[in-house]
Amino acid sequence: MTSLKIYTQFIEKNLVRQNDLKNAQVARKMDDQIDLLTDLISDLLDVTKIQNGKIQLNESEFDFDQLAEEIVAEQQMSARHKITFNHSQVGKIFSDRHRVSQVMSNLISNAVKYSPDADEVIVSTKLVGDHVRFCVKDFGIGIPEDKQKKIFEQYYRVSNAKEHTFPGLGLGLYISSEIIKRTGGRIYVTSNEEKGSDFCFEIPKSKNVQQNA
Ligand code: ADP
Repeated sequence: MTSLKIYTQFIEKNLVRQNDLKNAQVARKMDDQIDLLTDLISDLLDVTKIQNGKIQLNESEFDFDQLAEEIVAEQQMSARHKITFNHSQVGKIFSDRHRVSQVMSNLISNAVKYSPDADEVIVSTKLVGDHVRFCVKDFGIGIPEDKQKKIFEQYYRVSNAKEHTFPGLGLGLYISSEIIKRTGGRIYVTSNEEKGSDFCFEIPKSKNVQQNA
């Protein structure tokens, strides 16, 4: 996939240089599709790992505030919405940096995706006892109450006319919830149809907490 991306970007650059902007745009679209395919492969691999009980946490100490800031900045690059980040001093935590960042990105990109008519997404962090909480609030289509538990299941997508217009497979939240469960934490949502959703996860701040959990 990496070579495919490099070749596509090479073609795009050459087309721009030749002032063939129409075909350069096609190459750009190919590049975007490669990103989607890469994400899909990575999701399917994660599902396989979960099913085989092989999703391992690679834990270390890292700065939670810095990670949240990085992920917000990264998501802001592709989002039309203003992502407001309500800072809080959480400090260092002991967990799997890569997997936690994956869940943060999933929640923020969903918030953006499912609120096409809104222009803001609010991310906040908080220290709650010996856990850290990360929340993403959107002002989008929301989720009917009877579907709120199901969205964390594999391949589940809320299906009414509106949702069908959003691309996706229904794997992101399943993977996120398995990661959070593995850390000894919890993931949950409060939502109102037509008003928006508030997705949060809470994970133990240190290893001792996890062992006691
Ligand atoms: P995908 O977005 O690929 O369908 P997810 O597992 O991330 O998969 O989400 C599962 C389903 O939960 C989505 O199809 C959508 O119906 C619903 N959902 C997730 N996040 C939101 C949100 N922020 N607002 C409204 N619905 C959401």
